[in-house]
Amino acid sequence: MDCLFCEIVKKNIPSKIVFENEYLLAFEDIHPVAPVHVLIIPKMHIKDINDISEQNIEYLTQIMLSIKDIAKMLGIVETGYKLVSNVGKDGGQEVPHLHFHMIGGAKINANISYKND
Ligand code: 5GP
Ligand code: ZN
Repeated sequence: MDCLFCEIVKKNIPSKIVFENEYLLAFEDIHPVAPVHVLIIPKMHIKDINDISEQNIEYLTQIMLSIKDIAKMLGIVETGYKLVSNVGKDGGQEVPHLHFHMIGGAKINANISYKND
């Protein structure tokens, strides 16, 4: 099966886009956990943070440079937000295309815990 987020980049699957440029797409999470919950993804298929290399680092540079502008657009640059990227099974990554959750609009709980299973 094709990568879900690559399909969203190609607009084959619709999403509520909040910002887009040559390198990245920012769109609303389909199951928001807070008043503001946006996913920021590279337009190139990069699996996760472990997959970052010299070959694709420009996408990450551009994402990092755009974070504050996206937060400004969403009205949360002053109030703050969490930026989270899950990696692999133990990190709870469900979609294997690198993404940063930008979560804000209210005080966000840390809620970091683990269970042995
Ligand atoms: P992960 O668990 O991989 O870090 O996060 C994946 C996120 O993608 C989840 O928060 C989930 O709600 C979101 N998601 C999954 N499928 C879709 C979709 O088709 N459209 C949008 N906009 N978000 C999705
Ligand atoms: Zn992909």
